[in-house]
Amino acid sequence: MRLVLLGPPGAGKGTQATRIVDRFCIPQLSTGDMLREAVASGTASGLRVKHIMDLGELVPDDVVVSVVANRIDHSDAANGFILDGFPRTVTQAEALDQELTARGIKLDAVLELEVDETALLDRIRGRAEEAASKGEPVRRDDNSEVFKTRLDVYRAQTAPVTEYYRSQGLLNIVDGLQSIDAVSEQLTAALAALPCHQIRSDVR
Ligand code: AMP
Repeated sequence: MRLVLLGPPGAGKGTQATRIVDRFCIPQLSTGDMLREAVASGTASGLRVKHIMDLGELVPDDVVVSVVANRIDHSDAANGFILDGFPRTVTQAEALDQELTARGIKLDAVLELEVDETALLDRIRGRAEEAASKGEPVRRDDNSEVFKTRLDVYRAQTAPVTEYYRSQGLLNIVDGLQSIDAVSEQLTAALAALPCHQIRSDVR
């Protein structure tokens, strides 16, 4: 099953993607994680994108598209994947369609977590405080100022991706303000309505 998970920063995409990974045995392809790994390993491309990420802005489309295009060719993604944090622009969505078409495959569904902005700001403050209280590193882009930039970027550049997929009939929107379990159940129900797939109902 080939999926895209959309939603603003802090909407719970990572949490829900992990559940979908467990249930459907497909890898989570998070462009944020891949880019953070590139930064941590100090590669030339990592160093180029670090500053952009620290500011909460978007890495250039061609960089992210090539990262994703390479990753979907790995053997663990042969039977499907869930893209988390990609596409974030309509240009990326179009490029993804081209990459998939070139491989003779297509998306099965797009899942979007809808959450209002005030709730997101509360959540992200909570996420930073929780990490700090556990002595865990706080993401540099999880402070309030950068987070506001990330929301602005989302509104301006990523929100149009919703319409792109709606017009393709792929979009399923779920209220991301519900409990984690309730969101997870609704996402699973949306996927269950798709033809031709197996659900491992023993895993939550
Ligand atoms: P995330 O972990 O998904 O919130 O991503 C963290 C940061 O990585 C974002 O704020 C961007 O700077 C960068 N990034 C992740 N995915 C993309 C993407 N699809 N396009 C452009 N930049 C991205």
